[in-house]
Amino acid sequence: MKKISLIIPCYNEAVSLPLFDKEIMKIVRLMKDYEFEILYINDGSKDETLPIIREFAKEKKEVRYLSFSRNFGKEAAMYAGFCNATGDYVAVMDADLQDPPGLLPEMVKILEQQGYDSVATRRVSRKGEPPIRSFFARMFYKLINKISDADIVDGARDYRLMKREMVDVIVQMGEINRFSKGIFGWIGFRTYWYPYENVERLAGETKWNFWKLLKYSIDGIVSFSQAPLSIASWTGIGCTGISLLAVLFIVVRRLVFGDPVQGWASNMCVIIFIGGIQLFCLGVIGQYIGKTYAETKKRPHYIISECSDEEVKKIG
Ligand code: UDP
Ligand code: MG
Repeated sequence: MKKISLIIPCYNEAVSLPLFDKEIMKIVRLMKDYEFEILYINDGSKDETLPIIREFAKEKKEVRYLSFSRNFGKEAAMYAGFCNATGDYVAVMDADLQDPPGLLPEMVKILEQQGYDSVATRRVSRKGEPPIRSFFARMFYKLINKISDADIVDGARDYRLMKREMVDVIVQMGEINRFSKGIFGWIGFRTYWYPYENVERLAGETKWNFWKLLKYSIDGIVSFSQAPLSIASWTGIGCTGISLLAVLFIVVRRLVFGDPVQGWASNMCVIIFIGGIQLFCLGVIGQYIGKTYAETKKRPHYIISECSDEEVKKIG
């Protein structure tokens, strides 16, 4: 019998969890031909999430859990899940039912019958999302696909079912600055894209605000593309070219018209403009150095302070 592991990252999901549990247990009962492992990752929640998960683990043989010593972020929670999942197939699923558990039987069928290594979901609509967020999300996907080889589909969710071979590769990719959507695309394998209508969060609040999303997208670009560095270099070359032309122009004008002392204001504009470009390019380089610094420290992705089974590695 094949085993399916479900990784559920949870951060302050006390309100959603009882409803999520109800839905997921329906699926477990429905798919009798499979063994299930439901692996909850409590990502340093400040509400009643952990006691609720503890209860689940007591009541149901399928449930296991890991609890972090603080909030490490969804990326770390997913990585902890991948490192500890034992199933033949592994899926990540949000606790707020935005990743409908009802799609799972169909996803398993596609995985087994059509010879894919992974079945990934993508939202074909962004109903219920603020329009400005959708706009920037679309721009981001267009940009990152142009400048990297991560191959990320617009509307792609983290909700995907993968075969063991793929999960083993993901576990091997131990980078600290994790951008899972990029990693899934970068490692390749045959992926089936399963489209579905966006579902709104059933309870609680999204953990993402505009600035968090912006930072996450910059992380994604820096992790998967060196284009910003090339752009910085080309901007430098462009500016040098323009300044050479300007020097030529000024010398010719001096020779032809003499030297009326003028142009202080325009001079200042040019100096400030060039200064701005220099600082911007330094900032771009700084982003990469910062990421390199974080990688060289080799700090763990997460620290587990409590879990349902003792043999789990506490630092990973
Ligand atoms: N999450 C987490 N750690 C965090 C933020 C979020 O484990 O620091 C979990 C959260 O509990 C949920 C999933 O990641 O199960 C997706 O989060 P959310 O619904 O806030 O994101 P959205 O669906 O709005 O993109
Ligand atoms: Mg959500």
